Amino acid sequence: MTELTRRSVLASTAVVGAAVVTPISASPASAAAPPAGTQASGFYRYKVGDYEITVVTDGSTTRPLEDNFIINQNKEAVNAALAAGFMEKDKVTIRYSPIVVNTGSRLIVVDTGTGEANFEKSNGAAGQFQKNLKAAGIDRNAVDMVVISHFHTDHINGLLTADDKPAFANAEILVPAAEWKYFTDEGEMSRAPAGRMQDIFKNVKRVFDALGRKVTPYEAGKEVAPGILAVATHGHSAGHTSHIVSSGSDKVFVQADVTNLPQLFVRNPGWHASFDQDPKMAEEVRRKIYDMLAAEKMMVQGFHYPFPALAYVEKTSTGYREIPVPWSPTLAHARSPLPT
Ligand SMILES: [Zn+2]
Repeated sequence: MTELTRRSVLASTAVVGAAVVTPISASPASAAAPPAGTQASGFYRYKVGDYEITVVTDGSTTRPLEDNFIINQNKEAVNAALAAGFMEKDKVTIRYSPIVVNTGSRLIVVDTGTGEANFEKSNGAAGQFQKNLKAAGIDRNAVDMVVISHFHTDHINGLLTADDKPAFANAEILVPAAEWKYFTDEGEMSRAPAGRMQDIFKNVKRVFDALGRKVTPYEAGKEVAPGILAVATHGHSAGHTSHIVSSGSDKVFVQADVTNLPQLFVRNPGWHASFDQDPKMAEEVRRKIYDMLAAEKMMVQGFHYPFPALAYVEKTSTGYREIPVPWSPTLAHARSPLPT
């Protein structure tokens, strides 16, 4: 019987160490290669039927955990959930993963990230969408259509270049009709509470004015393009909309912000984030959608999930759990929905 004690492990490590050191120090090829010093480009491809999807990261933002980040939980509970997810306490890292859908006849971007101007501002941590799009070999001028889920800054600021020009010069910009109606209503704007809500209204005006207000509002319950169905998931914002991309019998639920980071909101669907405009409605929608994802074994593409932000969902005794889809070295991938 082999018994592994700390002592025997240390002793064997020492032996291995000694054995390794000698040839390396004797080798003329031991000159150090310079470290790359930057992260690899972030894009990931998979197929949904005949459609090719490229997930392109915009990077991430880390900020201090605010006391009221979750309005119906105290900071201790939030820190405990962060710890359970092996994340640092008192900090929240929000990641952004827009996607590009190539239907064979059209190139469609869904959501655009925090914007190119944010690349410099964030020291390269976010605002990476255009850089990674280029690395993925996708020409921004070849994009036919940009579909926006809702009007929060991390979804629309990438519609503009760093100098406030249209980032997708040849694309039709589709926006949820309910979101457009709410955020361009001057009455709603004048009643918006000071702070975050007013800032959102101002930013919506800034971005869409820069585009000459050239947008096409779309209705939920209809396809925005062949195989891309808009699904009303209001609550997180007035007209928040998700999308089901399908081709053949294959489909993926592109949820946008039905949940934010899964370690907090998938595990605890009853938690109300300070950035949910109507937290009660957001929770109802979250539970309804996640019940459906779990029951149908359908993949979810989560804008704020860890890259490449693709997972299945199962129900637990307290909420849900996301099971990341493993990285595939080919375009072949797990089926969605999974055959039962
Ligand atoms: Zn978001």
